[in-house]
Amino acid sequence: MSNTTEEMEPVEDFRVRVRAWLKDNMPVAGPDFSQGMGGHLADDEELEIVQHNRDLQKKLFDAGLAGIAVPKAYGGAGLTPAHMRVFNEEIVGYEYPSRIQVPTMTPCMAVLLDFGSEEQKKNHIPKMLSGEEIWMQFLSEPSGGSDVAAALTTATRDGEEWVLNGSKIWTTGAWWSDWGLCLARTNWDVPKHRGLSVFILPIHQPGIEINRIEMLNGSKEFCQEYIDDVRIPDSDRVSEVDDGWTVGIRWMFHERSLSISPYPIRPVGQGRGGQPSSLLPLARRSGRDRDRRGRELVGEAYALAMAQDRLGQRIPEAMATGHMNDQAASIGRLMAGSTAVRQSTISHELAGSAGVAWTDDDESLGSRGEGFLMRQSACIGGGTTEMARNVISERVLGMPRERAADRDIPFRDVERSAKK
Ligand SMILES: Cc1cc2nc3c(=O)[nH]c(=O)nc-3n(C[C@H](O)[C@H](O)[C@H](O)COP(=O)(O)OP(=O)(O)OC[C@H]3O[C@@H](n4cnc5c(N)ncnc54)[C@H](O)[C@@H]3O)c2cc1C
Repeated sequence: MSNTTEEMEPVEDFRVRVRAWLKDNMPVAGPDFSQGMGGHLADDEELEIVQHNRDLQKKLFDAGLAGIAVPKAYGGAGLTPAHMRVFNEEIVGYEYPSRIQVPTMTPCMAVLLDFGSEEQKKNHIPKMLSGEEIWMQFLSEPSGGSDVAAALTTATRDGEEWVLNGSKIWTTGAWWSDWGLCLARTNWDVPKHRGLSVFILPIHQPGIEINRIEMLNGSKEFCQEYIDDVRIPDSDRVSEVDDGWTVGIRWMFHERSLSISPYPIRPVGQGRGGQPSSLLPLARRSGRDRDRRGRELVGEAYALAMAQDRLGQRIPEAMATGHMNDQAASIGRLMAGSTAVRQSTISHELAGSAGVAWTDDDESLGSRGEGFLMRQSACIGGGTTEMARNVISERVLGMPRERAADRDIPFRDVERSAKK
């Protein structure tokens, strides 16, 4: 961080400055402001929202309020996670560029901060912070997403370039994004974890075909990319050749730490399920505020949000003081997934019959039904909660490791259904 402690703006002064700036500059979030990607949007509406997000991000950047905990050398404000937390408290109730936070700021920018060359950081991080570059993670493959180290997408060296071939899948919003952080196999003759490298990939180019996948709610945000002889300069390789798993471990850490990361904007108390602050108006609208069970459900959603929020403070503190190792980030990931599922369920229950079958007039109630149908995605995206439980048991609690048949044999010899 470039500022010294003496020069650093005190957190409470920062709060006053941010509060005043937000009031004068950011639009108040109306009832239609949505963070998520609904199934009801046409492509041109979706692109309009993305552009609006870029504009909001640029506004923050121009005001010196983007990348609050990112060093000034890369376009950030050079402040601390505590300042970022204050910002996240103050931005509640305002619109914010939700599409540009995850995965652009975390995990992609976080990985570049950890492993990128000086040139890569200077080229990309200011553009991420100003909304010019939206990034995606190219991790999951059609052959599986949980076993990330078993990537089949291959990068072959050709002089000062690499030639990439393969397919990535479940990339949310790749069709309107600019860059991908891509894990690829660079060596088939060593065990799986030792033959990977990470590359920076411009998404829109002739060798990449993007197919859209329709989800249960009608949204076509999920993409599958077919990568066919795509050439990348060696200068766009992140970290050492064949050492991509060192990057990958940190990448997974950042992905599982979304709920505690100091980089993305995350208005405090707004989980992914049914936003607690919207539940009381919802209960009033559906008449559930008059029955005891309805009020209990609203209380439960608030309690969960508060517990998640406190955990989001305690885990980083425990990691910073050495009481827990970095893998404890999986506790936050597990809590975020289970909280979102429960809050979506509560929201659906409060909506009553309008959350089961709705007309266009019921949109705000009807979306609760859609949220309920999609709720499980909160336990899958960003690594599944089952994998988080594995990490907690093996790496935090020290229980025995799961058996892995492919750990010590060359990846080329590992049995798989579609063998290379
Ligand atoms: C909303 C959303 C956004 C996403 N965005 C992206 C993205 O931008 N980029 C990207 O690359 N991917 C993305 N994904 C994909 C996501 O990372 C994968 O779906 C996830 O990692 C699981 O991989 P999989 O679907 O291939 O399931 P699999 O790996 O095939 O797993 C299937 C099931 O088996 C369980 N399982 C697997 N192995 C174990 C084990 N060892 N122990 C216990 N249980 C196990 C899993 O938990 C899961 O329930 C996204 C997914 C969602 C839902």
